[in-house]
Amino acid sequence: MARDKTVLSEKELFEKTADMIEFAMDAKIEIQYGKGENWVRLEKDKEETITKKFLINIATPAVKGIGQYTALLHELAHILYESPFTPIQKLLKEWGHADFYFDIYNVLEDARIESHLTQNYIAYKKRFEKTLRDLGKKIDESIDLEKPANTLLSIRFMREDLVKDVKHYQVFRKAIEDVKRTDKFGALRVLLSIKKYLDEYIKDESGDEPNSQENEEWKNEEWNRTKVFPELAEQYDAIDELRKVGNTREWCKKFEEVIEVEKEIVKLEPWRSQNYKKTVEAKPFKEEQKPLSIDNAEKSKSEECLIPLELTKTDLSDAQIDALLEDGKIKGAREFQQVCEKLHRGGTLNIPKNIRMLQREKQKSTINQKIVKDLTKFFKRLKMQKKTIICDTGYDIDLEEYIKNFVKGTELNKIFSEDVKDVGVSMVLSIDASSSMRRYDRIDIARELTATIFESVKGVSKIEMRGNVWGGNEYGIAGITEIKNQKDTEMVTVDDEYRTTPTHSALEYSGRMLKEMKGGKKLLIVITDGYPNGFSKGKRIQTEHYEKVCKKALQKTLRITPHIVIIQIVQKYLQGWVEEKSERIFGAERVIFVDGMESATQQSINLFKNFLKKNSKNLF
Ligand SMILES: [Zn+2]
Repeated sequence: MARDKTVLSEKELFEKTADMIEFAMDAKIEIQYGKGENWVRLEKDKEETITKKFLINIATPAVKGIGQYTALLHELAHILYESPFTPIQKLLKEWGHADFYFDIYNVLEDARIESHLTQNYIAYKKRFEKTLRDLGKKIDESIDLEKPANTLLSIRFMREDLVKDVKHYQVFRKAIEDVKRTDKFGALRVLLSIKKYLDEYIKDESGDEPNSQENEEWKNEEWNRTKVFPELAEQYDAIDELRKVGNTREWCKKFEEVIEVEKEIVKLEPWRSQNYKKTVEAKPFKEEQKPLSIDNAEKSKSEECLIPLELTKTDLSDAQIDALLEDGKIKGAREFQQVCEKLHRGGTLNIPKNIRMLQREKQKSTINQKIVKDLTKFFKRLKMQKKTIICDTGYDIDLEEYIKNFVKGTELNKIFSEDVKDVGVSMVLSIDASSSMRRYDRIDIARELTATIFESVKGVSKIEMRGNVWGGNEYGIAGITEIKNQKDTEMVTVDDEYRTTPTHSALEYSGRMLKEMKGGKKLLIVITDGYPNGFSKGKRIQTEHYEKVCKKALQKTLRITPHIVIIQIVQKYLQGWVEEKSERIFGAERVIFVDGMESATQQSINLFKNFLKKNSKNLF
């Protein structure tokens, strides 16, 4: 029975939406429907898995005024735009009054991620505006609107009318604008830019210098001081002695003194505390009134990442602050662009955990016009041959095209669509980019080959061409770059971090690509100049074992297409040995040995032509 695809259950919709982000971020995302609030956190896996795993809690029952789907989109945006909750919490501990600043940070961060998310999804924009307005309606006199976090919230929730008379209202208004569409540290940038006004608030409220509470928090931290400040080891010992004998007064005095020294050091070398200070769980809100928010950022956890040095200093001039804000907008635009690319690279492929999608360095790609001409002529000949046979089956093909377009046109998104099988030919050209491919300009010739084939098949709709470039690191991770179009061919380059030859990954990944492609007939050509070798945890995998891994990968890929050819470039002095090994792994009928990349190019073109000739009835 046909499944009615237009009716998607709510949970299914949630899962599909999360799937999209999973794919874009190369991470695992789990949704749970639990009591309480909405939050997202990075799960620390006990096993050493490479894939990141996030857990999202969707408040069930929903928090009043916040739809569950809106909440999900919001949490996913934290993942997509990489909110650095954990490092920021750590940093703010050093500022003192961490909770106070973190509340403010959270309002800014939420405004930041939503500004990105709503930028190109009009429907989301409306959805969030409604939610923000609804939350705005809940703000009343019972809330202390002078409190900076609440002032900011009122502005964010479109209730500026309530806070127009608040001191420095304009500053907060500007802050909400400043944070929009900035980079992942944008909220911190803005927080730094308004810090002096926030400190003024603290001073007005408590009557004390921000310093004294800061010292209290600094003192109470659980961190390994001798590791961070080895030069102060003697002082620490002395303080310890005083504590042991119970001389509290003297102990406190000495401690205060040493803290001043520590602070001076951290001012000059902020990375010290950032690298060594342990994360301390944020304390719960002290006040009875929790700020209104879509989620609970204190419960949210993110990846540990290093905060850029310039953002760890607090004594900044106005000019420096302006520069930081501007930098945030520039980097924010770039990050937004990258996220768009990740989201739209399409497909429902789940990337295995031993594979990293790599953006490689780009080099100009040239096209071999001679080959293009030759292939164009070849296509023409095939077409002419075809015409005489095809006319009475033309109807079938039109019908197929019709169905294909119909399905495409009515699908919301590729993610919701099932595979549409098509006639035609698909080819994947898989290129080894281990460091040896630099020798004799092999990689440059491979780049030209890839660009040339893309150019040649440009006008032929039934030939679908893709490529991939691969290399491995010593931890067993393969860095793979998909080549989907002419522009991408510039990334047929060697990346020095991924210099080994993990042939099994190349086979498996190419298989996955072919599986997604539409052609009725599929061809895989792998060009390599090394013998397969695998690494794991910094060590080379035993040859015998790795051969088995490769054979298995080959078997798996053969289930997707029987047409797999390995073009092996062999260096003279290794000839016998490599040939024997390759034939043992791939089977003699599947390997072609050549003496250089020029011959590999010629062989690839020949293979391609032969394959098309055999399958030409599918083509025109
Ligand atoms: Zn949030």
